[in-house]
Amino acid sequence: MIILLLGPPGSGKGTQSKFLIEKLGIPQLSTGDMLRQAIKSGNELGVKAESFMKKGALVPDSLVLELIRERMKQADAAKGFILDGFPRNENQAKALDEILSSEKKNITSVVALQVEPKELISRLSGRRTCKSCGAGFHVDFQPSKVFGKCDKCAGELIQRPDDSPSVIEERLNVYRSQTEPLLNYYSKQKLLKTISGEGETNEVLHRILEAVKA
Ligand code: AMP
Repeated sequence: MIILLLGPPGSGKGTQSKFLIEKLGIPQLSTGDMLRQAIKSGNELGVKAESFMKKGALVPDSLVLELIRERMKQADAAKGFILDGFPRNENQAKALDEILSSEKKNITSVVALQVEPKELISRLSGRRTCKSCGAGFHVDFQPSKVFGKCDKCAGELIQRPDDSPSVIEERLNVYRSQTEPLLNYYSKQKLLKTISGEGETNEVLHRILEAVKA
């Protein structure tokens, strides 16, 4: 089973992927997480990607494609996976089609999460992440028990550098100009299911699972 989650930054792809891992028993392949990991480890890819990510721009396709190709080859991805944040433009979508067809695999469903721009901005600007374990919080919607400290491991909660207001705006622009056209791309392939990404997390999860089953 290969599930592709599409949607603007802040639409809940990462949050929902974590639940889907449990429900579907397949891993989440998040290019954003992989790139942040590369930056943290200080490797060559991380150094190359960081300047693009800081600005809210897309990292060059060649780098992202190399990363995702390698990740898909790992044993845990053999039964399927959830793609979160990839593909982000038509060139990546075509490359994905080629990779999958060379392995005689198909995308099962593309689920697009729809969230109003105002809601996206408030979700992104209040988002906080634990520096140690990566757990997610929100200053208003899901505050930690102790300010600035992770509930799970007491690690320091930080704001992603690309969650600052000017970079959020740029990321939303990049989504509209480069990623949103993929809705049409997958609609033409009869793979697209569009659902609302607003409301309780559990309700959204339920909608995704229904869309995938349909
Ligand atoms: P995300 O965590 O998915 O919001 O991604 C954070 C940032 O990583 C994006 O703003 C891009 O700079 C970069 N990134 C993540 N996935 C991709 C991708 N598929 N193609 C290009 N850049 C990406």
